[in-house]
Amino acid sequence: MRIILVGPPGAGKGTQADSICAKYGIAHISTGDILRANVKAATELGKLAKGYMDAGKLVPDELIIEMVESRIQESDAKAGFLLDGFPRTRRQAEELDSLLKKHGFSLDAVVELAVADEVAVKRLASRRLCAQCGEIYNTVMKLPKTEGVCDRCGGSIIQRDDDDEAVIRNRLAVYHEQTAPLIEYYRIKGVLCTIDATGSRDAVMKLLEADFGGK
Ligand code: AMP
Repeated sequence: MRIILVGPPGAGKGTQADSICAKYGIAHISTGDILRANVKAATELGKLAKGYMDAGKLVPDELIIEMVESRIQESDAKAGFLLDGFPRTRRQAEELDSLLKKHGFSLDAVVELAVADEVAVKRLASRRLCAQCGEIYNTVMKLPKTEGVCDRCGGSIIQRDDDDEAVIRNRLAVYHEQTAPLIEYYRIKGVLCTIDATGSRDAVMKLLEADFGGK
């Protein structure tokens, strides 16, 4: 199974991706996570990407496409994969079509998680995460038992640099301008499935299972 998850920042792509990947036994490929790991490890790619990420801008297509091509060929992606945060531009979508063709892969579905901007801003501005294991927290709905300490692994709870409100608004503007047009691109291909992602994690998962579970 090969799936693309598309939606604005704050739609809950990472959270739902974890559940979908566990259910279907496929690899979760998040371009944002790969880039953050590169920034943390101070690789050449990380150094190039950091400025764009901190400003809420897109990292140049060439860097991303190369990164995805090598990632989809890794062994854990053989049984299938879910792309989270990629493609984000028309060029990335076209390059992905070529990559899939080149490697003999087909695309089963593109799932759009739809959410209003104001809901996304509220979610992201209150989002916190563990610097060590990535567990997600929220200052309104899900606080760790001990302030600043991850319940799961004891790591420190931090806020992502790009979850600052001004940067969030910029990321949303970039989404509407560059990524939202891809929804039409995939609708025309007949692979699009749109889910209302306004509700809780479990409510959205139920909608996903109802619309998509039969595949
Ligand atoms: P995300 O974790 O998906 O919200 O991504 C965080 C940041 O990484 C984005 O704001 C971009 O700067 C960068 N990024 C992630 N995926 C892509 C992509 N497919 N194309 C360009 N930039 C990306």
